[in-house]
Amino acid sequence: EPILKFEQVSKHYPNGVHALKNVSFEVHEGEFISVIGPSGSGKSTLLRAINRLIPISAGTVSLEGEAVSGQHGRGLRRLRRKVGMIFQNYNLVYSLSVLQNVLHGRLGYMSGLKGIFGMYSEQDKREALDLLTELGMDQFSYNRASDLSGGQKQRVGIARAIMQNPRLLLCDEPIASLDPSSAKTIMDLLRDLSQRRNIACIVNLHQLDVAMKYSTRIIGLCKGEIVFDGPPAALDEAT
Ligand code: ADP
Ligand code: ADP
Repeated sequence: EPILKFEQVSKHYPNGVHALKNVSFEVHEGEFISVIGPSGSGKSTLLRAINRLIPISAGTVSLEGEAVSGQHGRGLRRLRRKVGMIFQNYNLVYSLSVLQNVLHGRLGYMSGLKGIFGMYSEQDKREALDLLTELGMDQFSYNRASDLSGGQKQRVGIARAIMQNPRLLLCDEPIASLDPSSAKTIMDLLRDLSQRRNIACIVNLHQLDVAMKYSTRIIGLCKGEIVFDGPPAALDEAT
């Protein structure tokens, strides 16, 4: 069974923009997919449709066989926990420590306050600290998230997403705000984590060379339509 399935998905925004047009694809275990396309081609819309940060206009999005669109409340929260998200601008809580930000991934939104008051389990805390060690960030565990460089902030964002134990990791332009050396560190970490923990990854990128280097598969979007879907080698032949 695929982890993710898009069937004939379309998205019209209220202003009339047709951001996705009959998009269909499946994502399976072990895949590391880059979504490539010019600005405005629908990459962010595609990612946000997966955990219903935006509602779609037509078609079906399913996670491990369950339609996302029929879900509300508890059911939607359960599906969303399968999907970790990483953002271009990190979306950390800058008043909190690195460790507290990472624990947020385990505790979820409502339980964030519990983390602030230290009401997480010792087991969660140990896992968070181990993860920070794995990402080379343990020496910053008790620093405020605001005190980090961009690349370090993104590593905290990755740790937070991994604490969710996701089946699927969605990364929206994760390296767009980083210098080339930090970008390489982040892409290497994403690939390693995805392989070691068997988490499928979908990464929106605008750098084709990065997509070619890291992906098992590339999806090309143009004006809301899939114009290419295959391994990097096939893209080499097509161009
Ligand atoms: P990309 O991530 O490839 O840059 P987006 O998914 O952000 O593409 O945007 C696809 C199209 O949808 C663009 O024309 C964009 O202006 C439009 N769009 C994105 N978000 C909204 C929104 N909230 N309301 C209206 N139009 C939007
Ligand atoms: P991104 O490329 O990461 O989507 P943008 O700067 O395009 O970032 O969009 C920032 C925010 O504005 C997003 O929430 C997006 O949905 C929204 N947005 C993008 N394009 C439009 C648009 N044409 N009309 C209204 N909202 C938009």
